[in-house]
Amino acid sequence: MEMTIALAGNPNSGKTTLFNALTGARQHVGNYPGVTVEKKEGRCVSGTDEFHVVDLPGTYSLSAYSLEEVVARDFIVNEKPAMIVNIVDGSNLERNLYLTLQFMEMGARVCIALNMMDVAQKRGMKIDVEKLSQRMGLPVVPMVARTGKGREQLLETVADHAGSRPAPLKISYGRDIDDTLDEMEARIRSDEFLTDRYPSRWVALKYLENDVQILEAGKAHLSETHDWLTTVALTLSRHLEATLDTHPEGMIADQRYGFISSILKQGVISHTLDQNRLAWSDKIDKIVTHRFLGPMIMIGVLMGLYQFTFTYSEVPVNWFENFFGWLGDRVDTLFADGLLKSLVISGIIDGVGGVLGFVPLILFMFLGISFLEDSGYLARMAFMLDRVFRMFGLHGASVMAFIVSGGIAGGCAVPGVMATRTLKSPRERLATLLTVPFMNCGAKLPVYALLVAAFFTDHRAQVMLIITLISWVGALLVAKLLRSTIIKGPATPFVMELPPYRLPTFKGLAIHTWERTWQYIRKAGTVILGISIVLWAMMTFPQLDTQPVSNENAAEMHTPAVETMDPGAAALRHSIAGRMGMAMENVTRYAGFDWQTNIALLGGFAAKEVVVSTLGTAYSLGEVDPEDSTSLAQRLKTADGWGPITAFSLILFTIFYSPCFVAVVCIVKESGSWKWGVFSMAFNTLLAVSLSIVFYQTATWIMS
Ligand code: GDP
Ligand code: MG
Repeated sequence: MEMTIALAGNPNSGKTTLFNALTGARQHVGNYPGVTVEKKEGRCVSGTDEFHVVDLPGTYSLSAYSLEEVVARDFIVNEKPAMIVNIVDGSNLERNLYLTLQFMEMGARVCIALNMMDVAQKRGMKIDVEKLSQRMGLPVVPMVARTGKGREQLLETVADHAGSRPAPLKISYGRDIDDTLDEMEARIRSDEFLTDRYPSRWVALKYLENDVQILEAGKAHLSETHDWLTTVALTLSRHLEATLDTHPEGMIADQRYGFISSILKQGVISHTLDQNRLAWSDKIDKIVTHRFLGPMIMIGVLMGLYQFTFTYSEVPVNWFENFFGWLGDRVDTLFADGLLKSLVISGIIDGVGGVLGFVPLILFMFLGISFLEDSGYLARMAFMLDRVFRMFGLHGASVMAFIVSGGIAGGCAVPGVMATRTLKSPRERLATLLTVPFMNCGAKLPVYALLVAAFFTDHRAQVMLIITLISWVGALLVAKLLRSTIIKGPATPFVMELPPYRLPTFKGLAIHTWERTWQYIRKAGTVILGISIVLWAMMTFPQLDTQPVSNENAAEMHTPAVETMDPGAAALRHSIAGRMGMAMENVTRYAGFDWQTNIALLGGFAAKEVVVSTLGTAYSLGEVDPEDSTSLAQRLKTADGWGPITAFSLILFTIFYSPCFVAVVCIVKESGSWKWGVFSMAFNTLLAVSLSIVFYQTATWIMS
């Protein structure tokens, strides 16, 4: 027999672990149609049965609050899996069964994989599996997914019970709601309102819960019935508010928990829930989420993550750099001088090297984040910061992305954008990934260092601090702006419940880290290569007739070896990029930038690292090492039109203008649409130009 089974469960219940235990290497990762939620599928065989296993997104509930919940729900309704294997954390039954109950209310065929039995046992909990199965009316298989214990029994149980769909579970929600539900259900039945897809009582329940997805579907389907149902729901809502000071949603959730807790109290767990509350996890939380200690611990953890990501990845980053440097040298000696060589070195090797150069960073960051996520600390952090971030339309979990992108200084927006994956709410996630590029990534630092050293010699630290503050304030205000305009919408309700702490396993960390890193390599690689070649061409063509072809790295604009006056600068001025730079002067002169600066900024679209070296070439200094730019600093100090005002205007511009291409590609991939990549390039650049012009004009006016 062949059948589809869906794995479902709360985040951290061991879904991925079970999925791996079931399917081994026979799995593949894709997306659910139309959304960026990851879809993992695999195959597994037991006796004569073959299972197609789908890993649903982890959710706490089946409301339509988050993309994950909608995806999970739609999959069950549309694909009708033969069985939902609901992974339940046995050490945390009460909370986990909330989801189970919702599957049962949908009338889905469910069996419980009662996971983490080892943890439950360690905590001195005894679960009567037989009784639980009887009371819930579902097959229950105790397991330890981590060791694969219970795997065969689970597959046998699935094969035995798959097929027919049970009647939807009917819970009592108290007199008021029950009466209304009956009335609504009758009308839904007689009008055949959405009943081809959903059970009638469930539709009624969703109207009471104000479920956006079902409300929309209902309105489109039969607006008369829809209107009637909304009116009835509203009347009930008013009545509950007046009599009990509560809403249907709250009441429904309460009753579901009540239902679960009454089942558990009937001898399923030999442990009262009150004793459970004193479990070690709660004791740790007393310290970790303490009003004063909590934030301090959090700062320590963030600094630790930051150190870990950027310090320890330095060694492998150098390996990559050395390797690509070596490769460039090899090509340099093997190829004859000419366009082909220039293309291979500047277009291809630099492009691919640029992508792969980020790999160690991403790997280390995801390793660190996976650790915080798997251990349960990430949830605490989000919990503590949620109130602050919420004011700006973001989410507590946004903080990670900001820090990684350079919130403290010297991060990178590429892993930062990818770090937004831990955010479950789509709007907050989008607002976060569009604003993290304002942070001070490691590639912007040399630009600041150069300008600060040249023009703010006596106030270096203060100016650097001001730069950091401006980028944070800017990011938060822009987030607020986006969330009140184009990404408008109510804040996603935050699940306040905190999963118990757990020591992550090496295998779990390795899998989580590798999956994410590999996706980056595969997706970013192809696009970046193309863009890098285009940029190379822009800075190379049209060529000066009198000049021999530049052999050197055109993207970094080293001076060719020919002994003429300013050959690099002359060739650059002649190229498309140079002409663009000059054309742009019409606008940028109001911000104080000349055409040389513009070319450097154009190069910065590719990678911010290029800004300093291109400035050097454009100001005819020959090779400029971004690490050691004192000579360029001297040169700028005496150059026409340069002064502290121009310098700060350029700093402002650098903070806000378009993310580099690798970051843009990541934004596109993570947001699921080119639209947002284009938006962030256009919007950020426009914002930067405006801020610089306003600053430059105001400052010169005050000084005059
Ligand atoms: P998911 O979020 O539901 O996909 O959960 P994961 O599969 O990533 O598991 C979360 C953590 O729980 C990982 O560190 C796992 O190694 C661990 N874990 C999973 N199953 C078990 C189990 O049966 N016993 C124990 N002790 N740990 C487990
Ligand atoms: Mg997982």
